[in-house]
Amino acid sequence: MEQKEKKKLNPIERELMHKFKGKNARKCRFCGTARGLIRKYKLQICRRCFREVGEKIGFRKY
Ligand SMILES: [Zn+2]
Repeated sequence: MEQKEKKKLNPIERELMHKFKGKNARKCRFCGTARGLIRKYKLQICRRCFREVGEKIGFRKY
């Protein structure tokens, strides 16, 4: 029996890692909106998603 240890990544984390290497999109990578984008952290996500995702990837709301 083989025991493969697969790194379990959240869909969000996978998405992030995948798109970090990609081109810059001017819309939220999660919901697709172009409103309220936060490019501050090169995340390319909107404020709304940032609130949810931000915590998961280590950012905290101030
Ligand atoms: Zn969004």
